[in-house]
Amino acid sequence: MYKTKAYSAASATSLLASTKIPRRDPTERDVQIEILFCGICHSDLHQVRNEWKSIMPTVYPIVPGHEIVGRVTKVGSAVTRYKPGDLVAVGCLVDSDRTCPQCKANLENLCPNQTLTFNSPDKHKTAAVTYGGYSDSIVVDEHFVLRVPTNLDLAGTAPLLCAGITTYSPLRRWGVTTGKKVGIVGLGGLGHMGVKFSHAFGAHTVVFTTSPNKKEDALRLGANEIVVSRNADEMKKHAGGFDFILDTIAADHDINAYLNLLAHDGTLTLLGAPEKPMPVSAFTLLMGRRNLAGSIIGGIAETQEMLDFCGKHNITADVEVIPIQKVNEAYERLVKSDVKYRFCIDMASLQSE
Ligand SMILES: [Zn+2]
Ligand SMILES: [Zn+2]
Repeated sequence: MYKTKAYSAASATSLLASTKIPRRDPTERDVQIEILFCGICHSDLHQVRNEWKSIMPTVYPIVPGHEIVGRVTKVGSAVTRYKPGDLVAVGCLVDSDRTCPQCKANLENLCPNQTLTFNSPDKHKTAAVTYGGYSDSIVVDEHFVLRVPTNLDLAGTAPLLCAGITTYSPLRRWGVTTGKKVGIVGLGGLGHMGVKFSHAFGAHTVVFTTSPNKKEDALRLGANEIVVSRNADEMKKHAGGFDFILDTIAADHDINAYLNLLAHDGTLTLLGAPEKPMPVSAFTLLMGRRNLAGSIIGGIAETQEMLDFCGKHNITADVEVIPIQKVNEAYERLVKSDVKYRFCIDMASLQSE
């Protein structure tokens, strides 16, 4: 075991502050990584504040962060795919049981026995729970380490590990390609990546937003059109026209308004998780044989495919890079959606702690 610098929160009402945490010495299958950048995901904030206590109560202290990009510093004797100096990434998962049907189908994201990058029981018993990427270094099993294309901006690459794969996977799963009409609901951390991927896959991409002032940005990111969802006439014009709609909104909203926009056999996939169950009009689904679905991150092989795709098409997230000392301020701004479109922590700033 060794100690490494990190930022942690001591309780649901504490600010994140400088600390030291234990990491395991690399086992034969482990990769030790010096963390260079870590994106800030909304789920970091939810768990720091214990807002998901009914599903996964937070164990304190918590070290969040699951959008990790770094450089390999050491590998175990059985590691074959990485060597010191390689640029690598780690996303939301650091382990799974590898034996269930989902793991065998490369869907570790659906494994019932997965280990999340932070706030999951630590199988290695280095601490009670796993500690995430707001840290100097991390040790991860080779299977859950991804290779980063060397041409990409590293700060903009970090959010690909959660926001990127979360949008890439459903767009692929539901066959988004040239000739399809695709709606992206919400233009935040997830939505802006959804627009970039949908555009890169060749689909006619329409952004739904409540704020008309996002138009220029949506077009710059690759949208063909923008619809102000509060405008009933604008919504009506698109009725029955969409092959696929990706709904990134985590707040309560009326999904029936969007189900109505689907063509027959079209699918609306939810990525956000509003707190309360949502009413669904069965008629809207029946008339047109429409589908309502959900999706969560992606498997490890698909995450690598996504990173390779981003390397080839030079796709990264739009980020505001901050030193870790500004992380609490960034959380306050995140609550107000005051960021375009993801905060990313430059982990070199941890050296001065
Ligand atoms: Zn995330
Ligand atoms: Zn499994």
